[in-house]
Amino acid sequence: MHVAVRILLLVCLPLLAQAGQLSAPLAGERLLPGPFMQVWEDRSGQAEMPQVRALPASAWQPVARRDASFGYSRSAFWLRLNVHNPAPQAGDWILLVGNPLLDQLDVYGLDDTRVYRAGDQRPFAERWIAHRQLALPLHLQAGETRELLLRMRSEGSANLSASLMSRATFEHHEQRHLLLQGLFFGALAVMVIYNLSIFVITRDRNYLWYSLFVSSFALYQFIQLGFALQWLWPNALAWHQLSFPLSSALATLMAIIFTYGVLDLKHCHRLYSYTCWVLTIAAVLVIGMALIGPYRLALMGSFALLGACSIAAWGVTLLRWRAGYRPARLFALGWSMLIIASLFSILSGTGILPYSLVTLQAQQIGSLVELVIFSIALASRIRESQQAQALAQAQLFDKERQLRQEQERSLSLQRRTNEQLEQRVTERTRELEQAMQALASANQQLNEQNRRDSLTGLLNRMTFNNELDRALARATRSQTSVAILMMDLDFFKQVNDHYGHLAGDACLQHTAWRLEQRLRTGDLLARFGGEEFVALLDHTSAAGAQALAEQLCEDLAAHPCLYDGQSIALSLSIGVCAGIPRSATQRDLYLRRADQALYQAKSAGRNRVERAPAPALNET
Ligand code: GH3
Ligand code: MG
Ligand code: MG
Repeated sequence: MHVAVRILLLVCLPLLAQAGQLSAPLAGERLLPGPFMQVWEDRSGQAEMPQVRALPASAWQPVARRDASFGYSRSAFWLRLNVHNPAPQAGDWILLVGNPLLDQLDVYGLDDTRVYRAGDQRPFAERWIAHRQLALPLHLQAGETRELLLRMRSEGSANLSASLMSRATFEHHEQRHLLLQGLFFGALAVMVIYNLSIFVITRDRNYLWYSLFVSSFALYQFIQLGFALQWLWPNALAWHQLSFPLSSALATLMAIIFTYGVLDLKHCHRLYSYTCWVLTIAAVLVIGMALIGPYRLALMGSFALLGACSIAAWGVTLLRWRAGYRPARLFALGWSMLIIASLFSILSGTGILPYSLVTLQAQQIGSLVELVIFSIALASRIRESQQAQALAQAQLFDKERQLRQEQERSLSLQRRTNEQLEQRVTERTRELEQAMQALASANQQLNEQNRRDSLTGLLNRMTFNNELDRALARATRSQTSVAILMMDLDFFKQVNDHYGHLAGDACLQHTAWRLEQRLRTGDLLARFGGEEFVALLDHTSAAGAQALAEQLCEDLAAHPCLYDGQSIALSLSIGVCAGIPRSATQRDLYLRRADQALYQAKSAGRNRVERAPAPALNET
């Protein structure tokens, strides 16, 4: 309802108020008896019934408000109400006092004999009707008018919030209320269980704080609606008194911790953390005050804390939203609902708004909506974190792919480099092999050159000596005869002198060639020096050697050297030494003997063969 309308009603009601009697409502109707009441404020709180009865009419004032609320006061309020039954038959009515937290309520006139004494500072069992609210039964005869006198006193808000209805209407409404309240607490219980389960699964503490927040809020509501005294602690009156601000402060504290976590204030500007710390300390102080301090102060503290926290949470949430934190949007909406609900609570608690079942339910609906929105916001956080996770995963995949590509690139580079390297190594190896081959063949050529005489191509003297050693050793082993022929061109100096040295060289080549033709493949022929030649004949006896030597002489004599159109006659003198050698050490001996035989051939007239005897076995 608009505030302006309310203010108008507040101003006009006293004028409208008939101090007269209230006609008991028909079935289905509900009347607020405020305007039909008169009040006397007993500031001392000590006045007794006879004293009140004796008050002059002028002492009584019309009740200004329909809900008969007087805010926080230490006074006792006496209220007078005349109820008339216009019906032709008797009936039963209920005057339902909607404020379950009223400390004390005494009612005179309900019953001829008894005084109704109830309130949340009296044991629950004293109530005439076992109900969470104060339900006052009223029986009226046909046409009867009854004066009720009510005395109300409370440490909390002195609100009567009474409504009068027939007993049947009361029971009808009661069923509907209980269903709604059951739904409300059921919804809270579901939220607690759901969020606790999520906490157990995800280990995200925000869900725990939220569950505790909803639990403490549910307790607060349970107390405020009167269920706690009825079902939880019907006789624990002191505890009941302090439990209300305690549960309120506890719920606020949980809300602070929950908000701190869920808006991720830890990672924001320090001012956020400071604000949360200050509010947390305030909440702890209010809790301490509820436990040990004066009740009224704790109650006021809890209201102030609730107001401060609502505004702070709303502001912080808006700032976070502006900073781009997406879950903050839903929270802002939730806090807005809570603030509206809190305003209802505070305004009705302080008496500005009528304290009625409507305001109570508006608060319940508002807070339920807020809690549902928070729950959705929490769930949306899961989605946010899932999205963040998916994003991180995608980035990871991307990085992995890049890494793999780089790896492949570097691998292919390595492969290419390896191939190039291998190719170069192969090329180098081939070049090296070619160089080695060239070197080997050069070496071979060099060796061959070293072995041969450059002019005639025959073995040179050094090679011949080596070969001679081996041949003598072989012959020694096999005990076969070898022969050495020492050959010298006759009067060769004269050939040189007459035909020139080039012709002489040609004659040497010619002689070498002719000798080679005549010798066997296994025989060795060498140029011994100058115009001298030497031959080694394997498996050849002295006679065989002599015969061959003579053939050589004849052959050369028969074939002159043809050089530059001239025929140069040549002849050989040959010394032969043949035998079975005793050892290779006899080489020089054989050579010397053959040489001596050659001298004999020279001195005996040249162009002939002379034979020397083989060395004796013991000769060296
Ligand atoms: P003898 O019948 O006593 O052997 O007489 P000779 O002239 O053959 O003997 P001598 O030792 O007096 O002369 C050998 C000559 O052979 C001397 C040298 O000019 C010649 N001679 C040695 N080696 C070569 C050569 O490689 N080429 C040519 N053209 N002549 C050579
Ligand atoms: Mg000579
Ligand atoms: Mg000679």
